[in-house]
This record gives sequence, structure tokens and C-alpha cells, in this order.
Amino acid sequence: MKQSVTVLGLGNMGSALAGALLDRGHPVTVWNRTAEKAAPLAGRGARLAATPAEAIAASPLVVACVLDYDVLRALLEPDAEAVRGKAFVNLTSGSPEQAQDAAEWFGARGADYLDGAIMTTPEGVGDPGVMFLYSGPRPVFDAQEATLATLGDPVYLGTEPGRASLYDAALLGLMWSAMAGWLHATALVGAEKATAAEFTPVAIRWLATVNRFLTRYAAQVDEGRYPGDDATVDVQISVIGHLIDAAAARGVDNALPELLKSTMEQASAAGHGSDSFASLIEVLASK
Ligand code: NDP
Repeated sequence: MKQSVTVLGLGNMGSALAGALLDRGHPVTVWNRTAEKAAPLAGRGARLAATPAEAIAASPLVVACVLDYDVLRALLEPDAEAVRGKAFVNLTSGSPEQAQDAAEWFGARGADYLDGAIMTTPEGVGDPGVMFLYSGPRPVFDAQEATLATLGDPVYLGTEPGRASLYDAALLGLMWSAMAGWLHATALVGAEKATAAEFTPVAIRWLATVNRFLTRYAAQVDEGRYPGDDATVDVQISVIGHLIDAAAARGVDNALPELLKSTMEQASAAGHGSDSFASLIEVLASK
């Protein structure tokens, strides 16, 4: 018999989480503010609870995925003792500081708390290739890992409760930068009638090479030494000028490359002109 799981919150993501658990044969109890959203899951065998406390009582493991931490706290507060003795996995997005506060709140009420972050959209839930990040006490993670693997690959980041949220914020920032760069590039080639579908396979192949740069530069960042033996910051300041000129000539917005150029120029002014691109960390990191 597979472990019973309660899912609180049946928005787009919570419904996908509950669905993946049902698909793998877990008995699932659900609760949602708008009860009608439970109907498709009830049709697949989920049990609908009338209140959050009733839902929590039904399973040793509770997974929460609501809009934000304030919403979660508000729905638990009326019967906060319900969480005592439960393993509570919070997949609601929030800041590291909110995760820390939540860990204290759950700890004070006798719950085993893991904070998590979902690195996919709902259609990726259940795919063993997508990452679910977790932080909190190792024994709690170990005890729940097999069930959590139903949702995606569980990646444990350590005991600090805010670590999963910190990585989540960092990875989303990386995603937005990468996607904005791709859209800027697509706008540039699109000005010469290349379609996004034509350009994107070339872009994806280029990103595979960029991945190799990241691996090399990670070692430089950790050592605090940035030998410019591949391409220096000053050379790249010159090269990004070509991008800015090409975009300007085609009426493409240049705010993004101008920002990047300015960051490179700050690194150069700080003495890193002959260093590698990795030296920009000296401009970006906390002092
Ligand atoms: P939805 O808007 O689809 O669902 C929001 C959920 O929160 C619903 O269950 C909703 O209940 C509930 N909720 C909102 N306000 C209240 C309230 N005042 N009281 C009680 N319940 C409330 O959002 P998602 O499912 O997409 O996102 C949920 C969480 O998952 C967010 O923290 C999001 O950042 C995170 N996430 C989402 C991803 C995605 O791709 N969608 C990816 C990674 C993380 P009701 O149905 O009654 O409105």
C-alpha cells in the first residue's frame, strides 16, 4: 500500500501534483478553497475534505501548493494544531526569509517541515527529469524521498530552510535572463525575416557551448582568479558594440545589451579588462 498524501491547494500546480500522486497509486486527499476544482481529481479517486484540518488529518504527509505563504498561513491558523506530527512539504513559492519563518512556525507546532520549489510548469510534474528542490532536516527528506520522487527528481539542498527558495529565485533569474536574451536575438534576426522556428535550433546549439563556458568559469569564480586566456572583458565590450549597432540599425530595443555592456564596463574600470567574463562577478556579488 502506497503512502497516503494530502494536497492543499488545487490551482494549476496543486492539481498536477495531486494528479501525479493518483497516477502512481497513492491514496490522495485534497482540499481547495474553491471546492469545484476538486471534481476532476475526485473522478480519478481523490477524496475531497471539507476543511484544511480534515484534509491534514487524513495523511501522514501533507503537500501544500497555494498562491503564497500568507495564504498558507491564513488557511492553517484556524486549526494550527492539525499539523502536529505530520510531515509537511510546502511547495508554495516564496522568499528564503518566508521559508525560514515557516520552518519556525511548523517546528513550534510539532510538524516535520520541508520547504520546496518546483522547477517546472504543471505539464512537467511527474517527469523524473524535472527538478523539485528541497531544504530542511535531512531525516525528513530521507523519509519522504520515495514519495516525493513521484512528482519529479527530488534534489536535496541542505538543512537551511530557505535554501530551496534561494535556488528557486536564482534559477528563475537565470531563466528570465536566458529567455530575454533569446527573444532579443530572435527580434534581431527576425528583422531580416528569419523566423523564430528557424533561429531557435541554432540558438539551442549555441547554448550547449555556453554551458561549457559556465563550467569553466565556475572554477574561476570559486578561486577568485579570472585568467583572460579565452576572451577578455575588453574584447567583449568591443564585440557587444556590434550587437548594439546591429540592433539599433534594425529598430530593435537595446536596453538589455546596454545593461550588459555597462556591467562589462564597470568590470573593466575596476581593473578586469584583461580578465575573463567571469570577472563580472566582482561587480555583481555582495561586497
Ligand atoms: P493558481 O492561481 O492556479 O492556484 C492558486 C492556488 O492558491 C489555488 O488553489 C487557490 O485557490 C489558492 N488560493 C489563492 N488565494 C487563496 C486564499 N486567499 N485562500 C485560500 N486559497 C487561496 O496558481 P498555481 O497553481 O500556478 O501556483 C501555486 C503555487 O505554485 C504558487 O506559489 C506558484 O508560484 C507555484 N508554482 C507554480 C508554477 C506554475 O507553473 N504554475 C511553477 C512553479 C511554482 P482557489 O482555487 O480557491 O482560487
